[in-house]
Amino acid sequence: MYLRELGASVDHIKGAGSRTAAVLAKAGITSIASLLCYYPRRWEDRSITIPLRDFGSRSHVCTTVRVLAHEWFGFGRMRTLKVCVDDGSARAALVCFNRPFMEKQLAVGKSFRLWGRFFYKYGEIQSTAFEVEPAEGSGETAETAEGWAGNSIKGGGFGQILPVYPLTAGLNQGTLRKLVRNALALYAAPLEDELPQAVIKHEGLFPKAEAIKAVHFPRSMADLGKARKTLIYEELFYLEILVGKRALERRGISGDSTEGEGKRQIKTPPPFSPLQKRLLERLPFSLTPGQLSAAAEINCDMVSDIPMARLLQGDVGSGKTLVSFLAALRAVEGPARAAAHNSGVVRGQAAIMAPTELLARQHAENAAALLEPLGIRPAFLTGNVKAGGRAALLKALAEGDVDIVVGTHALFSPGVTYQNLRLVVVDEQHRFGVTQRNAIMVKGDRPGLLMMSATPIPRTLALTVFGDLDVSVINDMPPGRKPVKTHLARQANEKKVYDFVAGELAAGRQAYFVYPLIGDNEEDSPDDPSSGLKAAVSMAERLAKEIFPQYPVALVHSRLDEEKKREAMEAFRLGEVKILVATSVVEVGVDVPNASCMVIEHAERFGLSALHQLRGRVGRGTDQAYCFLIYSGDGEDLSDDGKARLKVMLENNNGFVIAEEDLKLRGPGQIAGIAQSGYLSLGMADPVRDAELLVRARTEAFALLEADPGLEAGENRRIAEVLERAPPFPQIAL
Ligand code: ADP
Ligand code: MG
Repeated sequence: MYLRELGASVDHIKGAGSRTAAVLAKAGITSIASLLCYYPRRWEDRSITIPLRDFGSRSHVCTTVRVLAHEWFGFGRMRTLKVCVDDGSARAALVCFNRPFMEKQLAVGKSFRLWGRFFYKYGEIQSTAFEVEPAEGSGETAETAEGWAGNSIKGGGFGQILPVYPLTAGLNQGTLRKLVRNALALYAAPLEDELPQAVIKHEGLFPKAEAIKAVHFPRSMADLGKARKTLIYEELFYLEILVGKRALERRGISGDSTEGEGKRQIKTPPPFSPLQKRLLERLPFSLTPGQLSAAAEINCDMVSDIPMARLLQGDVGSGKTLVSFLAALRAVEGPARAAAHNSGVVRGQAAIMAPTELLARQHAENAAALLEPLGIRPAFLTGNVKAGGRAALLKALAEGDVDIVVGTHALFSPGVTYQNLRLVVVDEQHRFGVTQRNAIMVKGDRPGLLMMSATPIPRTLALTVFGDLDVSVINDMPPGRKPVKTHLARQANEKKVYDFVAGELAAGRQAYFVYPLIGDNEEDSPDDPSSGLKAAVSMAERLAKEIFPQYPVALVHSRLDEEKKREAMEAFRLGEVKILVATSVVEVGVDVPNASCMVIEHAERFGLSALHQLRGRVGRGTDQAYCFLIYSGDGEDLSDDGKARLKVMLENNNGFVIAEEDLKLRGPGQIAGIAQSGYLSLGMADPVRDAELLVRARTEAFALLEADPGLEAGENRRIAEVLERAPPFPQIAL
């Protein structure tokens, strides 16, 4: 029996009546399996003594005290009991709000075990949140008191390490502890191991039954550590088994056939193809070393028999678009071999997908300018391409009269067919979910996939979520770029920022002003004095009328229709408009090299990755660029988290570092795209914190699959069985 096979309802457990079961269901606990997998958030070690004297250095005190005296303070209903105690190391006061009955229980002269959170107040050590239990048989000294009775006044569990579970309304620790204890007593023993014995042994892990018992009620902190390691390792191991299986499948190695060792063999990259060469010759600059090596890796993939599956990471402005165009050109030409001895070969097609219409249009314009002169037939498809034009375009795509199509989600809508889709490029891939990615992939016969990301996925996450992809990194910038100078400013000092921007505008450069709200309807509470938030619509007006009356201002936000957005962007790009007021729609991809200032108001309201992306809109030319992060809330109000985030922006220009920091501050679920990718519903593991274990589990899992792709040999059958009978990540489709 595997743990996740314990599908019986929780109400089979003693103590879980129908009312409790309903409350548990709200916390996602329905079966016995889900109860046992409801892991504690933390543990309280009540097995060791932490004297009162040390209250400041530890989160809790756990000691034995003698009651010295009772005091009362306050009047009437507010009359409150204060119990003075001493544990030999220090004296303290237990303040019993609303617990006058404690007077009897905490009788003067008696000894108690005490657990609580203490602080210093009015010259004494105090606690208002504590638990006590009579020290049985203890007459005098605390030290000799042994054998704690179970008849605690509250809580109990002295002498043990107690689990502390995450709670939802109606649930309490006592109930959960009791239920888990009962469930463990009945169901833990027969649980089978899910990892091969060899792994358990050399990683020094617990058997499954042992691990699950110890994670809830550890006998010692060492046991707890081992139990957690076991469960974390197991989780990561299965995650990587799934990732590894997918990688094998893409290479054409399934569990059923071990033939066709499809590993990519090409080591030396093929030369640039004729079309690629012609594009490079037309460029006014040469590729950076990072672009060159990424292009070479992509070329290797594209001449191999195994479809490419590559993630191209590069900070904002590193020039990924061009690399994707090079890939698209090769896809159009087709494999060199085929082209050489078959003149009638069908041209391939490439689809370049961007998350916003703005960005798609920009790519389409670039593609037209750069690729049309090479005889390539580009097209632009979004949801807004209407009726007649759309029908003609779809026909051209289906008949192979379009070579490279650039667009938004529309590229994978049901009516769209391709004649010979060889390459799918997903720009700003974190904006797309896995299902969307798949929706376009099925439009070709195993097309190559090139995903691009400027919100760099931290290495640790890349291993889990994108673990089956090859990765290319562009870690340099086109020459002449100067790092953006970033400044923090309080809202009260915004005038200084405006003055600085005025200087840049006077020098012929352009500026972005970004706001968290649009402000053209009620929900946004536009300029509601109580929210105190500035919004794009009204600020566009203010900037145009009051602050920079001599410069043309334009506005873009997501509720404008596409034509208006396009006009505004175009005017800004051509330099007709000097100030672009926007919401975070300009966050991704937009490229206007003459813009040198990025002013972000209410910067504390944006995520780190968004801020980095926004900042990446400037500094794309050779001029020094500036980013002003204006924060609101009287300066002092800014939450610690907000401060920490803005500080990261000041100190770092590197998107990878920022992404790692973002991950630390917000956790993986918050990182854009990770949540909807559905991979990270991990129970106990945290790929960032547990990166070391992750790498070990991955190595182990991959080696195992390499040797036995079908999971048929010996103990590997157990893994296949777990995947079959009790899959750990049912949301990952294989
Ligand atoms: P991102 O990686 O953020 O998508 P882009 O592809 O938008 O970056 O490129 C940013 C800018 O850099 C564009 O204006 C592009 O023309 C320019 N660029 C790209 N490669 C080079 C290069 N090798 N040398 C100079 N400029 C380049
Ligand atoms: Mg880009």
